[in-house]
Amino acid sequence: MRQDQEDPYQRRSAQVYAAADRASSGSVASPRPVLYDAVLLDRDGTLIEDVPYNGDPEKVRPLPGARAALDRLRAAGLRLAVVTNQSGLARGYFSAAQMRAVHARVEELLGRFDAWLVCPHDDVDGCDCRKPAPGLVYAAARELGTTPSRCVLVGDIGRDVAAAMAAGAAGVLVPTPVTRPEEVAAAGWVATDLPAAVAEILRRQQAVQPSTPPTGPVRTALVVRSDSAGDVLVTGPAIRAVAAGAERVVLLCGPRGRAAANLLPGVDEIIEHPLPWIDHTPGPVDPEAMRSLTARLGVVGADQAVVFTSFHQSALPLALLLRMAGIDRIAAISDDYPGSLLDVRHRVPVGVPEPERALSLAAAAGHRLPDGDEPVLRLRRDAVPPRPADLGEPGYVVLHPGSAASSRACPPEVATRIVGALTDAGHRVLVTGGPDERAVTARVASAGGTDLGGRTDLAGLAAIVADASAVVVGNTGPAHLAAAAGVPVVSLFAPTVPFGQWGPYRVPTVRLGDAAAPCRDTRAASCPVPGHPCLSGVEPDDVVDALRTLAVSGGGGR
Ligand SMILES: [Zn+2]
Repeated sequence: MRQDQEDPYQRRSAQVYAAADRASSGSVASPRPVLYDAVLLDRDGTLIEDVPYNGDPEKVRPLPGARAALDRLRAAGLRLAVVTNQSGLARGYFSAAQMRAVHARVEELLGRFDAWLVCPHDDVDGCDCRKPAPGLVYAAARELGTTPSRCVLVGDIGRDVAAAMAAGAAGVLVPTPVTRPEEVAAAGWVATDLPAAVAEILRRQQAVQPSTPPTGPVRTALVVRSDSAGDVLVTGPAIRAVAAGAERVVLLCGPRGRAAANLLPGVDEIIEHPLPWIDHTPGPVDPEAMRSLTARLGVVGADQAVVFTSFHQSALPLALLLRMAGIDRIAAISDDYPGSLLDVRHRVPVGVPEPERALSLAAAAGHRLPDGDEPVLRLRRDAVPPRPADLGEPGYVVLHPGSAASSRACPPEVATRIVGALTDAGHRVLVTGGPDERAVTARVASAGGTDLGGRTDLAGLAAIVADASAVVVGNTGPAHLAAAAGVPVVSLFAPTVPFGQWGPYRVPTVRLGDAAAPCRDTRAASCPVPGHPCLSGVEPDDVVDALRTLAVSGGGGR
């Protein structure tokens, strides 16, 4: 996250009940955990039974398994904070003293928390701390000495998850009977209850940590990520982890991922070659091309290969070629029985964010990100050109309506209305798109934006995105460019693939669109439902509101 975005909520008035006498109990020499420092917990319906506007300590009832789950987090060295909306204070239903008595009772039953963050306001107060606003998450991270992206928030309603996402934290929904179905559909990470959420948090934290050191030094590692730019970008953290443990890294990518591969830190050499079986409309397998690829891979002389794939792809055909190229240590994720094709067969449950899924494979192969390298997407600075001077000052909003897969593109008429609404709200809007999207970007920009259709390659687009105050985009490459630049995203996310796996990673995000639309989980490249309902219902005013939630104001400021 960029410095100037670190904390737009410093001046806000969330009430912080810090625990001065519980400051850190001395540092230990163990390496910093890769993913999380802290777990933030909603109070009512998550830790304790929801008793509306409760000011009575006698009515505090912990939810089943809460104490044991919290103690597991404490034992793992994670710091804990409660983040809770208590509009009963604003409405005068209970006093601050009563609330403190309730909280004392909660700690009696559930153990101590490192901080309590309370929003005392009501919806009508328009504060920046009442969830789904992200103020409490920023405040909690600050209290705990970390950043939102190193926090995971557990809560029982959509407001909790939305607040986490808007701050760039992870959010886990633990639904109760009052949780609305659309909130469950929209959440990227759902667990049955708090103990299950805690088990998965600890599992993910552990999974990116090698359990055994690499077997001997790795001189040359071959890493593989085929298909498109977005796929390559989300594999970046894992490739950096491999690079930290190898003297030289060679990346095999496909033609559609080449431009993204050029942007990745840690890569010493790139081999571009299509793997026809990866593609949605697969071309034929040409034996001669496969023979020449195998020969080329043999020349690399890799002593280890790590094959990264999407959850619906098989690594095994390539693993066979790698064996034929003489590589004798191969790691990949495979649910299919790999026999002697893999030395490290890794398995990952569904729903894990792609960058973490890849990091867990790197860990299984013996690699971890070094301390100080956060598990965020990053680009090579020297690979991103200067931004064109004629675009004016930074602080514009980028709207990228298109996508290589039309099922994930924003309908042009919706995008056009969004440009109009953003312009009316005082935002400067740049409309971006590839050379084949010029007709669409021209139409969309005609509502008041600047048309940059066809003007940039991926690296040039990265430069433009990096100086934006926010990017409005579907589930496509530029969303990951924004994440890499720490630029907030309004995600117009078609639910054809899981949001939890493909949503913008570790960057402030607001998700819009119908998460329960019939295209959900179809992986369709073109929308299978007439009218593209998952995104055609996005209201332009929702985008304006989303920017406000992300603290992006019209007029270029943030
Ligand atoms: Zn508030």
